[in-house]
Amino acid sequence: MGNREEKADLLQMLPEELADLVVGLGQPAYRARQVFSWLHRGASFEEMTDLPRDLRARLVEIARAGSLEMACEETAPDGAAKLAFRTEDGRVVESVLIPHGRRTTVCVSSQIGCAFACRFCATGEQGLVRNLAAGEIVEQVVRVQARWRPNRVSNVVFMGMGEPLANYEAVVRAVRLLNRPGGLHVGARRIAISTCGLPEQMRRLAEEGLQVALAVSLHAATDELRDELVPINKRHPISEVIAAARHFSRRTGRKIAFQYVVAPGLNDTQEQARRLVAIARGLPYMVNLIPRNPTVGSESPDADAAARFARLLRKLGAEVSVRRSRGAEVLGACGQLRTRLAGQKSAGRAEARPAKRVQQRDDVAATCPRRRRSRRQGPRRRAL
Ligand code: SAH
Repeated sequence: MGNREEKADLLQMLPEELADLVVGLGQPAYRARQVFSWLHRGASFEEMTDLPRDLRARLVEIARAGSLEMACEETAPDGAAKLAFRTEDGRVVESVLIPHGRRTTVCVSSQIGCAFACRFCATGEQGLVRNLAAGEIVEQVVRVQARWRPNRVSNVVFMGMGEPLANYEAVVRAVRLLNRPGGLHVGARRIAISTCGLPEQMRRLAEEGLQVALAVSLHAATDELRDELVPINKRHPISEVIAAARHFSRRTGRKIAFQYVVAPGLNDTQEQARRLVAIARGLPYMVNLIPRNPTVGSESPDADAAARFARLLRKLGAEVSVRRSRGAEVLGACGQLRTRLAGQKSAGRAEARPAKRVQQRDDVAATCPRRRRSRRQGPRRRAL
């Protein structure tokens, strides 16, 4: 048997690619549809019981059905759950399951770590470790779905670890795989890609013929402030990002969601509200306010500030929603995903954290450490 890493992960193959593979193995093409559907239900080759035994055996020999190992899971009192998976190279990928009413959203990671170092975000503190493969992205949803049966995952948001548009090919392939009938079949309109604002890739995404939603993490409406909060703004200032958002919206007919983490006293001023409405004029958009979640060692969310800023924006005519903070108790809320395994510490901002926070552990359970009650139940930690 070959080395696991050398085998193709069939989870990242589209049905037509699987058809080439099974035909190459002397099997009829329709077998590919069966394989695809099993794979996306999280089955191993051995479990694909309606396939001929010899085909199953060949597949085991030459390919893999996914590659992630469940490392641990933590459920918050609000029902949101953070799942950590171990990759083949010993890294950790985190995903979050968010049940809300009849819908269920899975927040997936697109990279291990992130190169963009946005000011509030815990993932950025570790720098970029590597891109995830499309199979590793899809498998997060497959595994969460398997755990969530008989309920269905209805929405997928690329708001976990990483910058999805910096891992463009894998992310677009993952969207196509997630969207396929016969697989998880998540509607493209129910898939949201969130970006810190990479104009070239936003324009490229507009041409993919996908109905995905685009969220742009704006966080500030003047370049002076955004340069500080989202460092990539120095290379791609607000005007460029908004122009690309306009292009996306024109090409796809979709509204743009501006993500805006509210940092009290910093980006929630009347001036920022006024500028935001001015720069977005003529664009179908909405503003998604996110109370800032505490990253390790930082302050708790300030729900009042978000509500106040929402009122300011609405008065100026903007459509605004204030996101309820979910999963904060398990450090699974926006901006809190960060892995803490051996070998994942990268140079850069890690040193800025207090020594005990950067301590690396080499056992997987360390990704779900027990947190002390005091940190979990601080009075300002209440969800909105
Ligand atoms: N890189 C992408 C997607 C990952 S972050 C992006 O920048 O959009 C998903 C969202 O969580 C972004 O809007 C991000 O700005 C937000 N976020 C980061 N840190 C946060 C924090 N501490 N509290 C609340 N939201 C945060």
